[in-house]
Amino acid sequence: MELPANKRILSGMRSSNPRLHIGNYEGALRNWVDLQNQGYDMYCMVADLHALTTMYEEPGEVSRNAREVAKDYIAAGIDPAKSAVFVQSHVREHSELHLLFSMMTPLGWLERVPTYKEKQEDLGAAEREPYGLLGYPVLQTVDILLYKPYGVPVGRDQAPHLEIGNDIALRFNRLYGKDVFTPYKYMIPEDESRAKVPGLDMRKMSKSYDNCIYLSDTEDQTAARIKSAFTTPTKIKKDDPGVPEGCAVCQYLRLYSKDWETQWDEDRQGLRGCMQNKKELTEALNEYLRPMRERRAALDDATIEDILRDGAARATERAAATMAEVRDAMGMF
Ligand code: ADP
Repeated sequence: MELPANKRILSGMRSSNPRLHIGNYEGALRNWVDLQNQGYDMYCMVADLHALTTMYEEPGEVSRNAREVAKDYIAAGIDPAKSAVFVQSHVREHSELHLLFSMMTPLGWLERVPTYKEKQEDLGAAEREPYGLLGYPVLQTVDILLYKPYGVPVGRDQAPHLEIGNDIALRFNRLYGKDVFTPYKYMIPEDESRAKVPGLDMRKMSKSYDNCIYLSDTEDQTAARIKSAFTTPTKIKKDDPGVPEGCAVCQYLRLYSKDWETQWDEDRQGLRGCMQNKKELTEALNEYLRPMRERRAALDDATIEDILRDGAARATERAAATMAEVRDAMGMF
């Protein structure tokens, strides 16, 4: 496939947890690795400032988590020699452009974002809800536009934020009369089973629901998590018919087992039980994750610091060039 003239891609994950799960991998990270290997110019960010919206009382943990998330990127196949792996707060331009965008983004655009309401509920009492939570999509827009990417590979849940980003880009150009920003593409996996991976309980897989399978779990932890997974509730005995579409184990078989079509057929017809599905999934998933675990084990903290320093330098170069254009368009600095 021919690559576009602008081959830059930006994406990131929050460091609100030290470990990424297979939902993060299927929805986003797996695409990053594919795009990198196709020759795209990747900027893989760890969003530590974003994590502060829910963890502002624990900045040390956010920072430690950031190193662990970077390890997961590399374990999953991001090659720091090809792709810039960096931490958001190491590139100061994110904070500066966030301030400027927050002055020109209408409040109504932000109040309508569905994830804002959800996150508000997660935080509980209104007094705990920080000002930055409402501005989350503005900071995310900054993260993207500073790199002027061709596209942004993310899971389905991110689509509303990405729409606001393109609206802010066009608004900026219109307000200041210069085409500084060009709209970017959203790169959401076409396969719905990857765009929104179910959790062990069949809700969306999310660290806040504690229903995840983590990339860096040990083989035994993966086996134990799969044991606890939700299956067809009406399939009590081995020969009761299953409904693979509503069974977490079958959903994961589809992602990781070469024989998933046969497995689904047999499940539907009551020719196999949930125990067999779980056993075969454990084997397939552990085999899939093994090279990632090996790469992760080989990464020490000093190597990660070097990678992040180099990534931040590469990212700063791009971000600073964009900021110079922004200041020039606004003509007041
Ligand atoms: P944030 O959106 O704050 O970064 P996450 O850590 O939940 O939060 O998401 C990081 C990336 O992983 C995003 O691209 C998101 O769309 C993707 N993602 C998260 N959960 C899932 C899931 N269950 N299925 C598919 N993609 C997911």
